[in-house]
Amino acid sequence: MTDNTLPSSCVQLVCFPDVDFSLIEKKLGLAFENGIDTLIAWLPYDFFVYGERLRNICNKLGMMLYWWFPVLSDNPVHDTSSGIVPAHVSFYESRGDFYSNEEFVFICPNDSKNMAALFSYYERVLESGFFDGVFLDRIRFPSPANGFDMLFSCFCSYCMRKYPFLENYKELEHPVISFLSSGNRDYYDFLLVNGYGDWLKYRFSSIYDVVSTLSLKAKERNLTVALDLFSPSLSLFVGQDYRKLSFCADWIKPMVYISTRGPATLPYELEFLMCSSSAAGCDNSFVLSDLQRLCGILAVYSGCKISVPFSVFTSELVMASALSSCPVYAGVELVRVDNPNFSVDRNLVGVYADALLSMDMPFVASWDLLSIPDEYFFLMSREKNKGLQL
Ligand SMILES: [Zn+2]
Repeated sequence: MTDNTLPSSCVQLVCFPDVDFSLIEKKLGLAFENGIDTLIAWLPYDFFVYGERLRNICNKLGMMLYWWFPVLSDNPVHDTSSGIVPAHVSFYESRGDFYSNEEFVFICPNDSKNMAALFSYYERVLESGFFDGVFLDRIRFPSPANGFDMLFSCFCSYCMRKYPFLENYKELEHPVISFLSSGNRDYYDFLLVNGYGDWLKYRFSSIYDVVSTLSLKAKERNLTVALDLFSPSLSLFVGQDYRKLSFCADWIKPMVYISTRGPATLPYELEFLMCSSSAAGCDNSFVLSDLQRLCGILAVYSGCKISVPFSVFTSELVMASALSSCPVYAGVELVRVDNPNFSVDRNLVGVYADALLSMDMPFVASWDLLSIPDEYFFLMSREKNKGLQL
């Protein structure tokens, strides 16, 4: 942990090359008036100009600035010709981002060549001195929703050299499918009891090693470190261990998105996990049952779509807090755009605001400052809501 001030609440911004800085300043000013004191910005590859402009705006408003860094996917310095290698089977085509056509190609955390380029780029950005903190995103293996065999990655030459015992796990999909179709629901216990602990440890350690290196490099420069993690119930599937990772962070943001439908949101991940596991021969019901076991809540499957009740939002955040050794910030989907898959209704925003107030939990307004209606900032204002409660 660093001694730096932690944000009261944050807002994310995707800074495209043609972005309108005067609009950013106006919207940020409004966010700031409503209790948000930190901007988390995804920058174009040529970060210098954009970083400096945003730094100046934040200085003017008295806000902190974090760099939103996509670590293992969508990173401009990656050589994506060497991506993640799944086990020898391929149950389901990788679909990328079904709704926005993003590729979501992940590179392997053990790929030392790609990692060297990544660390060098990362340090160059940190040396710019523009940032108060880093916000590390895409720190995971690909989700099995993108192809069930992704659950059994990675078998690239770097992984095989670093963890020779992986050779013994190339057939792991068969016992896993039998397990998932058996009615026994504790995946974690299944792996440990059946002697697959090494494999689980390899997945956790591969992600942890990259995160701890990035965290150390940031802390050497007295920057705060925040992590964007999968919702706790799904984190095991992508190699994220909340307990270990939270030790590298000053705060974490679980991605408990229950309404919108894009990668990492619960409806999207569960729907496609069900599709890909079914294509691999699993019993469809396992996803729904597993969510029930983990959250105490049954997701609803109807009309080929999964919907997730609001109570999952709070139960997942409670679980994240219990697993973590650092503060948890709720990621709140607040966008309203033309695409209904990515839009959140104002009534739901009010429900989010009430829930977070009663949990006394700070939040990150996701995903993009410029797509969040002004009224949503008013609705989320903690001070205003506290006043109304008195
Ligand atoms: Zn690998």
